[in-house]
Amino acid sequence: MTFDEFGFAPALMEGIAAMGYEIPTPVQEQAIPAILGGRDVIASAQTGTGKTAAFLLPVLHRMLTEPHVAGNIHCLIIVPTRELAQQIDQHMDALSYFTHLSSIAVYGGTAGAAFGREMESLTRGTDVVICTPGRMIAHLMMDYVKAGNLRYLILDEADRMLDMGFYGDIMKIISYLPEDRQTMMFSATMPREIRDLADKILKNPVEVSIAIAKAAERVLQIAYVVYERQKIPLLVHLLGEQKGKSILAFCSTKEKAKNLTRELKRLGLQAGEIHSDLDQQEREKVLLAFKNRALKVLVATNVLSRGIDIEDIDMVVNMDVPHEGEDYIHRIGRTARAQSEGVAMTLIGEQEQQYFAKIEKLLGKAVYKAALPLRFGEAPAWEPFKKHGGQHFRKPRR
Ligand code: AMP
Repeated sequence: MTFDEFGFAPALMEGIAAMGYEIPTPVQEQAIPAILGGRDVIASAQTGTGKTAAFLLPVLHRMLTEPHVAGNIHCLIIVPTRELAQQIDQHMDALSYFTHLSSIAVYGGTAGAAFGREMESLTRGTDVVICTPGRMIAHLMMDYVKAGNLRYLILDEADRMLDMGFYGDIMKIISYLPEDRQTMMFSATMPREIRDLADKILKNPVEVSIAIAKAAERVLQIAYVVYERQKIPLLVHLLGEQKGKSILAFCSTKEKAKNLTRELKRLGLQAGEIHSDLDQQEREKVLLAFKNRALKVLVATNVLSRGIDIEDIDMVVNMDVPHEGEDYIHRIGRTARAQSEGVAMTLIGEQEQQYFAKIEKLLGKAVYKAALPLRFGEAPAWEPFKKHGGQHFRKPRR
């Protein structure tokens, strides 16, 4: 299938060409016709699948071709984090470059001047508003937001928003919006709470489902079974082999992230860290340095595992095994974006083998376990179902 078949407005086709998109991704193939046809949509698709363009393109097309009342907000996109809001806004800028459509990202954590600018845009009306929940409510409560003619509502990373406790905020925002609208919900996972939310806010939705493990298919996955103390030396060794490449290393806690960054810097490596202790400006500075390749290694906690679109990451290293399989898929999805291929390494500590076995079950395949280079000493055996003290876990049924 090609983008021509959707019949998009010429100005939008120019944006698509400028982005270098040649063929639609599977989620785009499925979601775009449904959204163009005016249907509500519930889509399970994670970052890396092209989901942003899957909702932006049809909505922008309809704004360009259907009559609408000027001086209003026509589309509201609610997202869990500032980084995702900014990223979608950039995506919007690029795709709508050859059109007259306007957008603004509205998110917390910025000083008063930004609030004033947001207030002005929301009062004047901006075609597409991308917001985090708390900040949007702050504006809505002051009664100047021109949302009375809103046509499209999109919830992106809905599962993440529920995890972060935004259910009440989302419902509150919706209470300010017209009932007669088209609603689209994108979520990486589909737990019960997401289904319940969908039942409440969607009308007879089209379901779009991209298999969870799909995004991970083009990633070369390798695991090392190690003792905890072998992890940092092994990472340093792997970094030495990947000179000049850009590497994202995930840690389970910010303490571990800080410790690792300190150690890498001590060894003279260009490393930076990103986690929830940093404020907005600091996070942006580090992300920019990594994007510009001034930093070769970015050490991150889960803050970054979903949503953030950094192109050209050559390798993702999991310093710890995520306890949720879906987090693993999100993390390794940071490499091998749309058309490229990437490598994901996971260092499995002794206490983490059972979690990795669960991940393999979700993937539906075993991940290759590389041999630890001899100079690191002996490695533990791969025995995920053996409990310490000789007791055995029951092997999960496939
Ligand atoms: P997303 O899943 O929306 O975060 O998109 C992941 C990456 O894929 C972004 O860098 C997009 O610019 C890119 N992308 C989206 N759609 C396509 C497409 N049809 N062809 C090539 N790249 C795409």
